[in-house]
Amino acid sequence: MPPAEVVNPNVRRGPFRAVLFDFDGTLSLIREGWPAVMVGMMLDRLREQSLARDGDADLLDDLVMGLNGQPTARQMEAFAAEVGRRGGAAADPAEYLRDYADRLMGTVRGRWDSLASGAARPADWVVPGAHALLTDLRDRGVPLFVASGTDHAHVAHEARLLGVDGFFPAGIDAPRAGDPAFTKAAVIARVLAELGIRGEGLLGFGDGVVETAEVKRVGGVAVGVASAPAGAPAGTVQSDKRARLVAAGADLIVPDYGGGAELLRWLWDGA
Ligand SMILES: [Mg+2]
Repeated sequence: MPPAEVVNPNVRRGPFRAVLFDFDGTLSLIREGWPAVMVGMMLDRLREQSLARDGDADLLDDLVMGLNGQPTARQMEAFAAEVGRRGGAAADPAEYLRDYADRLMGTVRGRWDSLASGAARPADWVVPGAHALLTDLRDRGVPLFVASGTDHAHVAHEARLLGVDGFFPAGIDAPRAGDPAFTKAAVIARVLAELGIRGEGLLGFGDGVVETAEVKRVGGVAVGVASAPAGAPAGTVQSDKRARLVAAGADLIVPDYGGGAELLRWLWDGA
């Protein structure tokens, strides 16, 4: 039995020709807590114009998480549209993005500092078992890729701090300078074209609906990572994340990579 929830009993088992990772929530936990920061910013903006209503926290959480995996600018555009629907004066989505980024960066910089100083270890701020899973995959000789909707400079910096940058010699695909044209679909298309492989050869790991749906759209296998916040007991599945990943088409659900070696043996070797 695999150390995972098998959502799709007919899931194709490898070998795979390429493996694509999302970054935040899939490898890194440095930005853990970001949805609450984003929703908090949106609630404050609604209150400023007396546009807030009961149930907004849930409504905004759905808006934010439904676009998880797309560039952050998309979430800000969707929020601006919501302000407009309520008859408010929406700010430029770029202003919302700056406000959110300022709030989040206060938290994130503290985590950078603790990693850079050695007060925290990389293992403290990755999804449990991530380094061993990446090592196992690298030993299988399969090319590994990262696609993230977070700013490229930040993802590259955090990958170094977490000691995972060396697993991705082909680099990290993420939007530069907030490029709103970035899509994970385009990254997947480019990876498949560069390697000359079909979508069936792609294995994806992600905690977001976008990468999960895009990997499935090309015929790949999607492992949904229903990762819990840093410090949660190992093996904790975050149930709302799990539900979204299942709805997006995830073939398998894991809480983290504690069972990563067994998962790869099952998925890859049919063991
Ligand atoms: Mg993510």
